[in-house]
Amino acid sequence: MQIGIIGAGASGLCAAIQSKQLGMDVHLLDANASPGRKLGATGSGRCNISNQQAAAMQYFTDDQNALQKCFAKIPSVQVLTFLEACGIPTTASQDGWIYPQSYSAANVVDILMDDLKHIDLHTSTLITEITRTTDGFILHSANPALQYRCEKLILACGSPANPQLGSRAILYDSITRLGHTILPVRPALSPIETDPAPFHKLQGVRLDAGVELRHENKPVAQNIGNIIITQWGLNGPGVMDISHWIDPGKPDSYQLKIDFAPRCGGEIERALSAAKNAGRSLQALLKAYLPAKVVDFLLRQTRLEAHLHCGDMHQSQKEGLLHAIRNQIVAVRGVRGFKFAQASTGGVPLGEIHPATMQSKRCPGLFFAGEIVNVLGPCGGFNLHWAFLSALIAANGLVEKERD
Ligand SMILES: Cc1cc2nc3c(=O)[nH]c(=O)nc-3n(C[C@H](O)[C@H](O)[C@H](O)COP(=O)(O)OP(=O)(O)OC[C@H]3O[C@@H](n4cnc5c(N)ncnc54)[C@H](O)[C@@H]3O)c2cc1C
Repeated sequence: MQIGIIGAGASGLCAAIQSKQLGMDVHLLDANASPGRKLGATGSGRCNISNQQAAAMQYFTDDQNALQKCFAKIPSVQVLTFLEACGIPTTASQDGWIYPQSYSAANVVDILMDDLKHIDLHTSTLITEITRTTDGFILHSANPALQYRCEKLILACGSPANPQLGSRAILYDSITRLGHTILPVRPALSPIETDPAPFHKLQGVRLDAGVELRHENKPVAQNIGNIIITQWGLNGPGVMDISHWIDPGKPDSYQLKIDFAPRCGGEIERALSAAKNAGRSLQALLKAYLPAKVVDFLLRQTRLEAHLHCGDMHQSQKEGLLHAIRNQIVAVRGVRGFKFAQASTGGVPLGEIHPATMQSKRCPGLFFAGEIVNVLGPCGGFNLHWAFLSALIAANGLVEKERD
């Protein structure tokens, strides 16, 4: 059977290798001159390929029930076994983030390319439209003289995030004509622009913070993670993981509440009152827990003397300081957009796809894999995990359908 796969990114490469192994005649098409461009840039070049905590509940989607079925169909260990069989053994960091043993995204692409040797690969082939025929699909390319026919089609064409790596968002109209809804596509895992005034002396600071996104003073999303304070706002997983909650049409109605001590706030509170610290200067005590720039910032804001002895502090001063540590409010100005986003939300609803096969409920013979589907994970390897997991289900699924 002839299988067409649009997109030779993480999910398309995986789907191509798996369906070829299952005996299919695979044609893999990509607009870029070389496959896996985004995959080759992941994890700052180190390729954070999966996560030990990968499970449906970690993801944002329109159909949590369907996502649970996907994770039940291909347990996480099977994704890692597939990668190992492709020649990509993996290793996990202490916090459960999984990387290839080589810690090289470029090597991962090269290894997957080696596995593609017997697959018909068409690079520099932009598919502009897909039409349905009685026995399959016609894929229309940007070159009017070139059309491709296939009996089954896997759409693995990703999202518009990071267009500088060759992402495109031109097939949504075709997908709509094939019967699907397209949920609004928004940048996700994006830095957040904020009012630069409150934190302007903290530029360059990087720390683990508690982050609460508030809309019109009501909490919308919370996270604890690393943040980096910049001249335009906040970067890092701590804020990126919740950036998709901001409506890009009205960013000014959001605020971020930052907790500089999400894990050690209680410890700081006890240390301030501990007898053994009575003669210690406030500045020295805070430096045990927080970056120096944050300590100076907090002392300025609370008007407390750096050399004040902890034992000489009034209760109200301690309370004011602890409040400042845990409740910094900064106004949101916007999300940095697709150019800086690592992923997207929206696209094809998972609810319109059979989770056991990734086959469309609307258009038989059409399968989906990867970020084109409305499934978003946080930073930490979850999105590549989904790309591989959904690709394996789709490749297995179209073969199952064929044998039915
Ligand atoms: C800078 C950066 C770092 C990241 N780091 C990580 C990380 O460490 N861990 C993690 O889990 N996730 C990471 N991500 C997210 C992860 O890369 C994506 O979720 C994943 O690559 C999605 O895989 P995909 O196959 O769905 O799409 P892609 O990998 O984007 O592949 C889609 C492919 O389809 C092709 N295509 C699109 N439209 C057409 C068309 N019309 N015709 C022909 N070809 C087409 C594109 O050229 C592309 O090659 C990162 C993302 C970015 C941008």
